[in-house]
Amino acid sequence: MPMKPQRTKLPARGATSLRLLLFLPALLALGSSSCQNDSSGSLPPPTTTSGSQTPVARATEANAARPAFDGSRAFEHVRRMVEMGPRHAGSAELARTREYIVNELRSAGLKVSTDEWDAQTPTGARRMANVLAELPGKSPDAIIVASHYDTKAIKGIRFLGANDGGSSTGTLIEIARALAATKQQPALTYWFVFFDGEEAVCNGWDECRTPDDQPDNTYGSRRFVARLTEQGQKDRARAMILLDMVGYKNLKLARDEMGTGWLKDIIWQTGKELGYQSVFVEGEEPVGGDDHEPFLRAGIHAVDLIQLTGYPYWHEATDTLDKISAKSLQAVGETVIASLPRVEKNVAR
Ligand SMILES: [Zn+2]
Repeated sequence: MPMKPQRTKLPARGATSLRLLLFLPALLALGSSSCQNDSSGSLPPPTTTSGSQTPVARATEANAARPAFDGSRAFEHVRRMVEMGPRHAGSAELARTREYIVNELRSAGLKVSTDEWDAQTPTGARRMANVLAELPGKSPDAIIVASHYDTKAIKGIRFLGANDGGSSTGTLIEIARALAATKQQPALTYWFVFFDGEEAVCNGWDECRTPDDQPDNTYGSRRFVARLTEQGQKDRARAMILLDMVGYKNLKLARDEMGTGWLKDIIWQTGKELGYQSVFVEGEEPVGGDDHEPFLRAGIHAVDLIQLTGYPYWHEATDTLDKISAKSLQAVGETVIASLPRVEKNVAR
C-alpha cells in the first residue's frame, strides 16, 4: 500500500465509539454541571474607537471597556510564523517560533515560562516545549486559552500550516497582548498556553502509539494536564478555550462535538451578538480529539474552536497565508475576549 498521509484527526469509527463509551461518564458529568449559561450581561465596547467596532459594541454603554483585539496584528504574527518555514516538533524552526512567541508575550508585559521535556514518540525521544504566559487575576482560579504552535511534518510536502498551527497561535498572542494592555486585573487568572506536539509523528492521527502506550498526538496538552495534576493545581483550571484552525478567509465555526455545552453556548451567542453570525454557525464539527480532550478527561470544562470540515487545504502544501484573513482572526479574537467575563461568571465560586 502506498504511504499516504491520513487526513483526519478522527479515529476509525469503531475507535470513536469506544472513546465515547470510555469517556461518557466524564462527559455526562460535565453536561450535568450546575453551571448556568449566562448570556444576560451586555457587551462593553472595546477600549479603542477603531473602525472595527461592531454595532453591538457601539450601541452599548461604556461602563467597562473591553480590550481591543487587532486582527491585523494577529495576521502579522501568522505571517512571521509562516516565514519561518515548516515548524514541526523538535525542529530549529519551531525553536525560533517559540522564541518569537516568548518575546511577543514578554513585550506585552506578561510573565512567561517554558516547560521543556523529552517526549517519547514512536520514532524516538523528541525535545518539546510548552509556553505559558500568565495574567494574574484577583482569584488564583484560572481560565486557559490555548493553541498548538507546531506544524505537522508531512513527507514530501513543505507544509507551512498558515491555518493549522499558525492562525490560532497568532490570534492567541494578540488576545494575550490585548488583555494585558488594559492593565485591569481580571477576576480570574488567565493562562495563555502554547502547546508543542499536537500533531501526530506518524502520518495518521491514531496510526501509532508511543513506546509507553500513549497516543501519538496532543503531547503538549497531555503533558500540561499531567503536570497540573501532579502539582495539585488541577482544581485551579476552571475552563479551557482551545483555538485550532481559526483563520480561513471563509471561516465557519460549528460547535465541536466533544466540548462542554455551556461554554459553546456562551461563545456562539457572544459571537452572534458581535455580528459574527456568519462565522459562528449552527451545526456540529466532528472532532474526535484535539488538545482540549486531555482537559475534558480531567474533568475540566473545555471547548475547541476549529474548522476542520470545509477547509480544503488541511494538511496540504496549500495551507498558506493567502487562505487566511485578518477579518477571520478578528472575529475569533474579539469573540473570545468578549466571552471571557461571561465564562468567569459561570465558574466563579
Ligand atoms: Zn494539523
